[in-house]
Amino acid sequence: MSESERPWGYREQTHGKNPDWQLHPDTESVRAGLARSGFGETGEALYLTSGFTYGSAEEAVASFADETDHYLYSRFHNPTVSVFEKRLAAIEGAELCVATGSGMSAMFASIACLVSQGDHVVASASMFSSCYVVLSEILPKWGVTVEFVKGSEKADWEKALNRPTKAVFIETPSNPMLEIVDIAMVSELAHKVGATVIVDNVMASPILQKPLQHGADVIMYSATKHIDGQGRVLGGAILGSADYILNQLQPFTRHTGPNLSAFNAWVLLKSLETLGMRVERMNSNAQAVAEFLSSHPKVEAVNYPGLKSHPGYEINSRQMSGGGTTMSLSLKGGQSALFEAMNKLVVIDISNNLGDSKSLITHPASTTHRRLSPEIRADLGITDSLARLSVGLEHSSDLIRDLEIALG
Ligand SMILES: *Cc1c(COP(=O)(O)O)cnc(C)c1O
Repeated sequence: MSESERPWGYREQTHGKNPDWQLHPDTESVRAGLARSGFGETGEALYLTSGFTYGSAEEAVASFADETDHYLYSRFHNPTVSVFEKRLAAIEGAELCVATGSGMSAMFASIACLVSQGDHVVASASMFSSCYVVLSEILPKWGVTVEFVKGSEKADWEKALNRPTKAVFIETPSNPMLEIVDIAMVSELAHKVGATVIVDNVMASPILQKPLQHGADVIMYSATKHIDGQGRVLGGAILGSADYILNQLQPFTRHTGPNLSAFNAWVLLKSLETLGMRVERMNSNAQAVAEFLSSHPKVEAVNYPGLKSHPGYEINSRQMSGGGTTMSLSLKGGQSALFEAMNKLVVIDISNNLGDSKSLITHPASTTHRRLSPEIRADLGITDSLARLSVGLEHSSDLIRDLEIALG
């Protein structure tokens, strides 16, 4: 088959009929990137192939010279992975997307592709612990300096962003403290000193928060969380402008190989079809659970950006449509009271994942954030009496009842 006869290539993968109006994101989430094989299948095809063949030696030459849009090799791109990337980019409203094998490979690549020895990075301190390790231990080994600030404090950002800075990394809401960073405020300050603003949008998901609309430049996801949301596969994604993706990110990822597998892409692209419905329901369940917990006499504190008592409530209401699916809480009686209550739960599972259809509770100090020193944990507010609760798709009445019985 010659290039002109081939139904599609990686640049313009299409199902043949393209509407001439801008589709609603809900429609994009089931249709964007669709690339039917010619058999007319309704379900997206899974292309488990590492390589691709060429009709002639000349076609291979032209393809490697980037004169065709023939697929070359699955470390560069793969038809199934492309559907996932195009669909997520359409939902996010980003120009391009690169999918990766995990959230951490997305986080690492999104920043490693930008920095060189001597460069400076500023980050909000409250974040997922592996991201903290990349910034506080791995990048400094390579001569990159990293300064951490309190993400909710404008004065801290103003002080830090007074020198040339290559990248700013923020997580909002943060895991597990649910600290809120004002994306528009930080982006404005960061752009004045030449920084690329990268947002870890895992906790919000593309359904509840679109950081590009608030001035950020790059979004990264752990697709393991809400995007899969059903406890099956790891995955990640980086989204941004064509300039960032083609000129900064791809030269890094294509040669270092953090690829998402075609199989995992196929699982994740089907998950995108239901992402909006799932996240909206989980968000309203979480709001109900947070309201219940915040009025319970045995609960000391609930950190949930959907509660008016949360210090980031106002900012969050501007940049996120809801409080999200996850909260953290502490009980009167500390860790022993907390463990006792966790062990009594019969619907909510003890697990360190989040964004799942099943409600999950974990003790960050001894699990997800164990790797951080006790001093850093104390600084971040991750005390021994803190639990993180990710609210799933069960009926909120069952979740509240489970918690009510466990709290005794
Ligand atoms: C889980 C998580 C990550 C890492 O994602 P993996 O898919 O586990 O590699 C990064 N950031 C946040 C906020 C997370 O919750």
